[in-house]
Amino acid sequence: MQNDLMLLLIEGTAHTIDSHAEELTRLDQAIGDGDHGINMARGFKEILAQKEAIAALPLDEGLKRLGMALVMKVGGASGPLYGTLFIEMGKAAPADPPSLVDLSAMLDAGVAGVKARGKAEPGMKTMLDVLCPVADTLRDRANNGEIDRLDERIIATAGHALHATSLMEAKRGRASFLGPRSVGHIDPGACSSALLIGAVVGVLAPQS
Ligand code: ADP
Ligand code: MG
Repeated sequence: MQNDLMLLLIEGTAHTIDSHAEELTRLDQAIGDGDHGINMARGFKEILAQKEAIAALPLDEGLKRLGMALVMKVGGASGPLYGTLFIEMGKAAPADPPSLVDLSAMLDAGVAGVKARGKAEPGMKTMLDVLCPVADTLRDRANNGEIDRLDERIIATAGHALHATSLMEAKRGRASFLGPRSVGHIDPGACSSALLIGAVVGVLAPQS
């Protein structure tokens, strides 16, 4: 991946998280401890500070460094999980610029890492409830070569999946302490995942 593209991805994701930090915090106040926006903004501020160094690395190394920065800076439950997502994506990254099929395989590897690390599956009201359907859509489309309006399809998948977390009872993380009282609220980590996906699509779609 081009150095310039990585810079745009870092700037785009960091800006999106920063401008939605209050919303993420509000969601976490309802069913958690109210720190998700602060945690994510701290992590992405660090990535922004390291953007030149990350973008200068080959894609695999850059993603691993980005993931490590999130582990160190985000903290909470989400830091190690998002860190794992990017580190595992880095491990699965090809030496050449990634094709859509490569990107899909990278996201699958990242999601598998999050599942293993968090001992979670879709349906437990976590970030996986957005990441998994998006990975499924990307895999289906990339492998079938159906790339017409893929950006819209991915954004729609993420948005629909995000809102569906409201119907779920949390089975992992702090929200699970609330049991049935977690129903009726959108999951904060699912929201940050949807925001990150939107930001990545917003950068990559105009390039394709
Ligand atoms: P903490 O819960 O430690 O305060 P954050 O508020 O930063 O951490 O992140 C909370 C989010 O982390 C949740 O909304 C959920 O999406 C995600 N999460 C928590 N536990 C898990 C898990 N075991 N697997 C996947 N995601 C999880
Ligand atoms: Mg929290």
